[in-house]
Amino acid sequence: MDKEGLAQRFRKVKDGLPSGVLLVAVSKKRTVEEIKALYDLGHRDFGENYPQELREKQPLLPEDIRWHFIGHLQTNKVKYLAPFVHLVHGVDSRALLDELDKRAAQAGRMIDILLQVHIAQEETKHGFSNDEVLPLLSESHTEHWMNLCFRGLMGMATNTEDNAQVEAEFNGLAALQRQINALHLPYLAQFTELSMGMSGDLDQALAAGSTMVRVGTSIFGAR
Ligand SMILES: *Cc1c(COP(=O)(O)O)cnc(C)c1O
Repeated sequence: MDKEGLAQRFRKVKDGLPSGVLLVAVSKKRTVEEIKALYDLGHRDFGENYPQELREKQPLLPEDIRWHFIGHLQTNKVKYLAPFVHLVHGVDSRALLDELDKRAAQAGRMIDILLQVHIAQEETKHGFSNDEVLPLLSESHTEHWMNLCFRGLMGMATNTEDNAQVEAEFNGLAALQRQINALHLPYLAQFTELSMGMSGDLDQALAAGSTMVRVGTSIFGAR
């Protein structure tokens, strides 16, 4: 492993972020050694896509790492992550909300989540449609999902060279969050996060008001 190169790329990404924007280092398919090298530089927030991979790595790494789950999560995998996961970014169904809530209760903790919204012009990406989010959130305060803390929204833009389209998609997500926050729902007092932007569309995401970026390639190199 090229520790020098890793440190340089990490610094470059980190120094390019406005203050207050959280860098989630996406470590899927990276070794425990690579993660530890970044940890030794002081970094604590790491993002993983695959439950099995995360389950294997987590016990081998320091306990104060904040593990973000950023991939598509199947309900039958929730139980493995519920005891320790810091934030689940890609919550994209009611079934998943139900399962996360149940497993959070069993683990005796609250789990922080972001709702994934389908903002891209691509069928392969997951998420709720724009229209589904408000009705869903207006239910969440009574009998539903008492063990979950709704922290905001997550989106993935279309993989395209068309910058204007990417910007429009991110701006749309930011607008939806503003619309939700304008309701001042008491149980959404912590609905502050907008997880958007990866190596290829970081600048557009930051311009649209991202509070969390998920960056893999620009830090660790090509997968
Ligand atoms: C892999 C992945 C990333 C990071 O992508 P890079 O292009 O390597 O920065 C970010 N978000 C999600 C959801 C991912 O799956």
